[in-house]
Amino acid sequence: MTNPETLLDDRKETTVTVARTGLPALVARHAAHTPHALAVADGDTTLTYAQLADAARRLATYLHQQGVRPGDFVALLMPRSARTVVAQLALWWAGAACVPLDPAHPRPRTAAMLEDSGATLTVGDSKLLEAAGTPGATLALPGDEQLAYAQTPGDGPGPDDTAFVMFTSGSTGRPKGVAIRHGAIAELVTDPTYVTVTARDRVLLHSPATFDGSTFEVWSALANGAAVVVCTTERPSFEDLAKEVERHGVTVAFFTTALFHQLAARRSRVFSLLRTVVVGGEAMAAQHARAVLRAFPWVELVNGYGPTEATTFATTHRVVDADCDGPVPIGRPMAGATSHILDEAFLPVADGAQGELWIGGSRLARGYTRRPELTAERFVDHPTLGRLYRTGDLVSARPDGVLDFHGRTDDQVKVRGFRIEPGEIEHALREQPEVDDAAVTVRRPTPDDARLAAFVVAAPGPVPRPDALLARLTATLPAHLVPAELTVVDRLPLTTSGKVDRRALADLATAAEAIGAAEPLTPLQQAVADVWSRSLGCEVTRPDADFLDLGGHSLLALVVAEELREDLGVELSLPDFFTTPTVAGHAALVERALLAAHTDLHPDAPKDTDGH
Ligand code: ADP
Repeated sequence: MTNPETLLDDRKETTVTVARTGLPALVARHAAHTPHALAVADGDTTLTYAQLADAARRLATYLHQQGVRPGDFVALLMPRSARTVVAQLALWWAGAACVPLDPAHPRPRTAAMLEDSGATLTVGDSKLLEAAGTPGATLALPGDEQLAYAQTPGDGPGPDDTAFVMFTSGSTGRPKGVAIRHGAIAELVTDPTYVTVTARDRVLLHSPATFDGSTFEVWSALANGAAVVVCTTERPSFEDLAKEVERHGVTVAFFTTALFHQLAARRSRVFSLLRTVVVGGEAMAAQHARAVLRAFPWVELVNGYGPTEATTFATTHRVVDADCDGPVPIGRPMAGATSHILDEAFLPVADGAQGELWIGGSRLARGYTRRPELTAERFVDHPTLGRLYRTGDLVSARPDGVLDFHGRTDDQVKVRGFRIEPGEIEHALREQPEVDDAAVTVRRPTPDDARLAAFVVAAPGPVPRPDALLARLTATLPAHLVPAELTVVDRLPLTTSGKVDRRALADLATAAEAIGAAEPLTPLQQAVADVWSRSLGCEVTRPDADFLDLGGHSLLALVVAEELREDLGVELSLPDFFTTPTVAGHAALVERALLAAHTDLHPDAPKDTDGH
């Protein structure tokens, strides 16, 4: 975007497409025009637009009676369900901004999020509120049947009011809360040109509420009169996702890049059911995109790029086969976003050259809550280009304006869709008394897997035990920030300029990978070990091999569960999976399931006649 004409075009686009509304008004509009159209469904609850608006208004009235006032920030802690959508709308109709919390986060993390967002109250599910022990005031939300009437609400929030505060990793050891406006989300999803969503569509909601992908999932549907299908399984397996899509006739889904790669690698049948697949979070691998496009040629595949600070997606690209000869591009700015590729002197780079991407336009976040200095550092008033967000991403523009992504200018990494500042984890490690210094890097044992590897230099005294240190980290950091492996080293490798040498660290991580000594396995254990080996990218030879110790994580658990289903015909639920995460434990579960299936079968049952 270097010549003045394009800049002008960008600005024109911004002024034309600004959505001047809050999100509840979008629901109210559809409730008036298509009251009986399906708005939200989960396994138990089905709400039309009229019912959704009514339920949310009644809950808003209750919240108001309980003291929620316009301008308040209220945290929300609920399992994912149709009621989550009702509760969000109700908070907004009561005038508040919503701070989604994750029940899986450790207490100190939740406490920090509450403090930094300025939330004065946490509402939600009574059991979760009790278990989470959230500091400050809490309010359990009553069931719909307990809410009698709705007062006529005001107009609801305007486009400039804050809809959500979403947290992302912060390099100084504290997560950053990004305040996202209603108008920014409305503009992202209303009549989108980069993806097909019509009133006849059904969009899958399966992302955690703390993740900005969930705003696309809910609001691309509700802004356009379509339906949200809520997956209530907290950690759905690949098979759970496919069943959900199948059962509810889902047509549109968003997948993080890491999940997309896994589904693509096994040609998941979700692609035979979906019309539109939006993927985002990390660089899309050409071979996976091509495999999906060739096997499922009807799929509308969209690569979405963007930081939370620019409201979910800033650029998008409709991926076609010809894009898969090289790295898949991230496309052009959309829905009011502008893009500017600048050099270190903040000047536009030469055509085609690499530079840092700065994003402008009407969807930029207000900034980071209660962090004015950080906000000033990343959101900058450019003398000629207006307010811009500095992404830290390296890109280049093709002659037609399509952007290619080339990595980061800093240490920030992505692991399974989570944005991670290694500095945040290093900070948490240095807080431990036995640790003098720490560095964290990403290791890729297989092309589709990424794991956090930590290196610590011990403080004088007894040498810290890696497993004990990691266990302590789980008390303060959410699971995605806890390294999969930790090695104690004498000193951290440094570059000639005295900085931690991250490339050398990555090599060290590969060298430190442990390989277990061989022990005899039973045939069933061997079958399980084979599945583990393929997924984990290392040879698994011991019955007591532990999935987590070998660097296994939630996404790999999905892979293993799916392969066990395919290879051995047994479905392991994820809770079972993690109760006994050893080869022997899994083999025992498989054996039990096989026996149960066997005894369930009537011995004289006639054979399937259709050849299965
Ligand atoms: P999101 O949740 O929308 O992915 P985050 O704020 O978590 O947003 O992460 C944003 C960062 O993720 C970007 O700055 C970029 O480094 C990376 N990223 C996001 N989408 C893509 C993509 N499609 N291709 C390459 N990198 C991406």
